[in-house]
Amino acid sequence: MDRFKLEECSWKDVDAYLQTDNRIILPVGSTEQHGVFAPLGTDTYVAKAIAEEAGQQSGVLVAPPLWFGWSPHHLVKPGTISVRAETLIEMLSDVIGSLAEHGFAHFVVVNGHRIVNIPWMQIAAERVQRTLGVRVVLFDPAYMSKEIAAKLDFGPIGHGEEIEISHMCHCHPDLVRLAEAADNPHTATPLYNLDPQDPRDTLCYVPATRSGLQAVYDKTADTITGRPSEATPEKGQAYHEHLVRRLVEVLEMITGD
Ligand SMILES: [Zn+2]
Repeated sequence: MDRFKLEECSWKDVDAYLQTDNRIILPVGSTEQHGVFAPLGTDTYVAKAIAEEAGQQSGVLVAPPLWFGWSPHHLVKPGTISVRAETLIEMLSDVIGSLAEHGFAHFVVVNGHRIVNIPWMQIAAERVQRTLGVRVVLFDPAYMSKEIAAKLDFGPIGHGEEIEISHMCHCHPDLVRLAEAADNPHTATPLYNLDPQDPRDTLCYVPATRSGLQAVYDKTADTITGRPSEATPEKGQAYHEHLVRRLVEVLEMITGD
């Protein structure tokens, strides 16, 4: 089938696809502030870019992205839309449930909103696997890019840092105003090191309170953490291509059962 985006297919196209395949990719992001220089949709754009390129390469359908995530801390800035984790669990379960009704059985959820989306996605995935007999795989770029991130000498994961901004500079250069980016390097917090690559002991993640994050951002040049000034489209392309290759591998692993 030429079309690989679900929203561009007719029901008949989907019916034909289901005769030979039961896999589908679901990109999930957020709509939240990413500093003054990057769009609110950054997390969704990057998930969608990985999902669509891997879907096109492997002939696997891609569902329309979920543009909303759990972003209570980022309500510090306008345009952010945060949906409660409880609602997101229900939404993802309903999306998967609708698709399962007609025969989709293998779901690969591509996360663009990092650590914050993972807990509710895990709860929804466990529930639908148990109740609907489907299989759900959670594909998170931070966990799936440890090898390439080290090679590209990326700094730690933050928010609007060089990793996701490089990715955006590759996928959507028209939406990033890099000249306006101001770095806000990480500051050490004892026993709190949340980058999946960090080998040190750490407490688990809890989204900051809105006032807590505001207090942090009051002291910084922009409402991000990291060094976006070091972002380049070349690094973004290498990172993107690595993730697409990994997602294609994952899709191949779940073929045929
Ligand atoms: Zn982001």
